[in-house]
Amino acid sequence: MNMDSEETIITIAEPSRKRRGDGPRKSAAARVISELCTGCRICVQTCPSNSITIVESELNYNGIAEVDESCTGCHICAIDCPWDGVEMVNPDGSRKGPAEYDRQLKRLRGYQ
Ligand code: SF4
Ligand code: SF4
Repeated sequence: MNMDSEETIITIAEPSRKRRGDGPRKSAAARVISELCTGCRICVQTCPSNSITIVESELNYNGIAEVDESCTGCHICAIDCPWDGVEMVNPDGSRKGPAEYDRQLKRLRGYQ
């Protein structure tokens, strides 16, 4: 080991967890219904934006899912959650209904 050499510190930037663009949100965002979430982690694995993490909770030994600001509103977690533990919430606070989930599922599968 060369003791004379200066130590080089390499910093690897964390990917941004913020969504792109400023201003109010225009698309729906996923929201976890904490009472229904079992902490199964399926949504963590399927979210294409890495927007979901499992956090500790008194509600569940496994923890529960939490969605961050980088959510693009793609619906995938809401469709995939086996416990109906995710709802899609519009920017005005209203919730998307089953018909909109169905439409988005068809879009994701390329039927529409
Ligand atoms: S898939 Fe559903 S139940 Fe499983 S961690 Fe995600 S929100 Fe919770
Ligand atoms: S709606 Fe899409 S981007 Fe948002 S948390 Fe769910 S899977 Fe991730």
